[in-house]
Formats: sequence, C-alpha cells, structure tokens
Amino acid sequence: MSLCAELGQLHLQGPGFSTDPLLASTLAPRQLPAHVEMDQFAVRAGQLVIGGLPLNLLAARVGQTPFYAYDRALLQQRVTQLRQLLPAAVKLHYAMKANPMPAVVGLLAGLVDGIDVASGGELKVALDAGADPAEISFAGPGKRDIELRQACASGVLVNVESGRELDVLARESQTLGRPARVALRVNPDFELKGSGMKMGGGPKQFGIDVEQVPDMLGRISALGLAFEGFHLFAGSQNLSAEAICEAQCKCYELALRLAMAAPAPVLSLNLGGGFGIPYFPGDRRLDLAPIADNLAELCERARTELPLARLVIELGRYLVGEAGIYVTRVIDRKLSRGQVFLVCDGGLHHHLAASGNFGQVLRKNYPVTIGNKSDALWRETVSVVGPLCTPLDLLADRMSLPVADVGDLVVVYQSGAYGASASPQAFLGHPCCAEVLV
Ligand SMILES: *Cc1c(COP(=O)(O)O)cnc(C)c1O
Repeated sequence: MSLCAELGQLHLQGPGFSTDPLLASTLAPRQLPAHVEMDQFAVRAGQLVIGGLPLNLLAARVGQTPFYAYDRALLQQRVTQLRQLLPAAVKLHYAMKANPMPAVVGLLAGLVDGIDVASGGELKVALDAGADPAEISFAGPGKRDIELRQACASGVLVNVESGRELDVLARESQTLGRPARVALRVNPDFELKGSGMKMGGGPKQFGIDVEQVPDMLGRISALGLAFEGFHLFAGSQNLSAEAICEAQCKCYELALRLAMAAPAPVLSLNLGGGFGIPYFPGDRRLDLAPIADNLAELCERARTELPLARLVIELGRYLVGEAGIYVTRVIDRKLSRGQVFLVCDGGLHHHLAASGNFGQVLRKNYPVTIGNKSDALWRETVSVVGPLCTPLDLLADRMSLPVADVGDLVVVYQSGAYGASASPQAFLGHPCCAEVLV
C-alpha cells in the first residue's frame, strides 16, 4: 500500500510542500494534466466570491442548496471583451438555449445585437426580455405549425430547415397578412474539425443539405416569402481557433456560392456559434485573436461580395459558461474501502453535463472545489456524488479537493451553460435547484 493510501489519501498542497521530490511524488495525487486555472472568481477568507458576495452569504441569501449562480459582471465582461476583439461589423447574438434563465436573457438582450431562439417557449422569454424582434432569429428542427405562426406574427427571422416549414410559413404569411422573414439554414458538405458536438456535415436533421438549397431558393420566391440570407452552424464546444476559422471561411465561401441563386440580396449571413470553453484537464482557453482576424478578413470581403449582408455569430456557451457555478451541499461523508465519498444534495438531475452524461464519450471531471474552503492547504482525494440511486450520479471522480465535511459547499465551475435547463430535474423526485443572477 502506498503512503498516500495509508494517509487516507490526505495530502498537503501549496507553496513549500512540493520541494522534496521524493515526498512530492509519494504524496501527490495521480499525475494528470491539470484543469485550466479557475481565476474568474476571487477567494476571500476561503470563500469563493460571486457577484461580490462570499459563497456562505450567497447560499444563505438564496435560502437553499443546490443552486446555480451567475455572475452579472462576468457576463458583462465577456461581451465587452468580445466587442473589443471582434470587428465592429460583426453582429454578436446570444443563443439562449445555453442559459434561458429570464434574468440572464434580460441582461444579455441589452448587451448583444440579437437573440437566437430554438423554440416558441424561448421566443416568449426573448420577447418578454425586451429583445427587438427584428434581431431575433429562430432555428431548430421540428418547428411546429403554431411556433411558425408565432414567429411570423412577431416578425422574427426564421432559419428554415425544411420544405414543409416554407409551406407553413407561406400559409401563415397569407393568414396574418405579413410575409414571413426567412433565411435558409444550410447543412454544409463539410464538417467542423475537433468539435464536441457536430451540427453539420453528412446526413443531419439540422438544416437543408447544400444540394437541395437551389431548389428551396426557387420555392421561397414562388411562395412570396421575404428571403434574408443563410445560416450555417457546424458544431459546438470547439477549442481550436484554427478549426473555427477554417469552418467560418468555408461557410462564407459556401454562402457566396449559394447567394448567386438567391431570389434577393443576402441581408444576413449567420456563421453560427460553437466557441468552446475549457472544461477538462488539458483543455486550454480558446485563442480569440486569430478568429477576430479571420472575421475581419471576411467582413472586408463581404463589403464588396455581399454588400448588404451583416455577418452574425451566435454564441451560447462562450458567453455564459464561465460566468456560472453550481453549488451543492455535502450531506454525508462516507469511507468505502479506502475511498472517500462526499454525498451531496445535488447532482446529475441538476447538472447532467458535469456528471458526464450530456454528450461526453469518456467521462472526465469538470473543475470542482469546496467553495467555502477554497484556500485550504489540506487536501484529499475524494469522489463527489449526488443523492440519486445510480452510479452515474457523479460530480467528481477521485479528485484532489480541500478536505470537506457535512455542511460544506461543493462548487462546480464552468456551469453557466447547458446546466439547469439541460438536466432531468424530475428524475427521482428530489427538489429542483434554484438559479440566481448576482
Ligand atoms: C446551440 C446553438 C448555438 C449555440 O451553440 P454554442 O456551442 O453554445 O455556442 C448556436 N446556434 C444554434 C442554431 C444552436 O442550435
């Protein structure tokens, strides 16, 4: 048995504790690539600070665990940083399915140029939040007739994904006396390299295959719909600037080609989202500079090649992901055959992605800490699990964390996107989580 195991996997970390290489190698946890430093939140007296509030106070203010907390200032900073880097001509949209909390949508609606919605329900939230219908776009396969009517009535741009949608929109335009605004969502004939989730290329339920686009463009003019442009979205969670630039160039070229057969000039060219954030050990933050340069070049070309078009990018995860944390309280601490388990009041049912069950092939740990003991020197290797009767309910698998006990607050970083609304909250009948914007 290693010394590490004999010590109950307790080890010291921090300055001064790793100077002896022999000791360090015996006491250090398994040597893995590290998580990127989570330095977006300050630590004061051991407490993580969110929206200016130390975590213990915030938890008391919320009045319950588990909860998600989103930091208003970090959301604002992210938009400001993008505005500074990206060419002014590029329109920045928020794809609100990443985080549809009304307060978050309300905040972002005032900061970005438009909101992308993916259902009639999201459309309502965006409109309630005060987003300008002229700057809302609606994408998603399987738009119901009633959703297409709502879109037409509210005057938003519909990213059309099938011939049937065109027919329904033509009928609704007649009934409502208002021609629907349409763009074609194109399923390109290439894939985005290195994307966590591919949304285009090959056979897909999303968009219209490039091959069918000329025919659809003909139908748009025959049906008297208002053609406004193209929408292309190749894939989500990409950390390679090079791959994103390549996809954006290819999407631009494709749109340019398709524009020749369009019934009207292209007013909007939406190049999609997909900017990734670091979740797992070894992930690095996306380098925006090459993407900004590439978009500047595309804008320059568009000035002559597509003179009426505005270039749009629609970001979800990148805008909100790093500004949010998930907080759950330790309700039990168990030792099972040498392994420590912190059993918490939240888990997979609130945070499917952190459990590894939202599109991950191999489960990896999100960055996690004990948010009310963030600066503790004593650390131990533990697993953080939730209260569900399934081994899938795992928030951290044998991670080195500050030593924690019942009542302490486990924090999962990088939780602002695809969290509460992307999790099966009804599973097993535990209480729902709260959400706050601070
Ligand atoms: C989900 C989605 C986005 C946002 O994707 P992110 O990877 O979160 O940036 C953008 N556009 C469409 C059409 C989407 O469905």
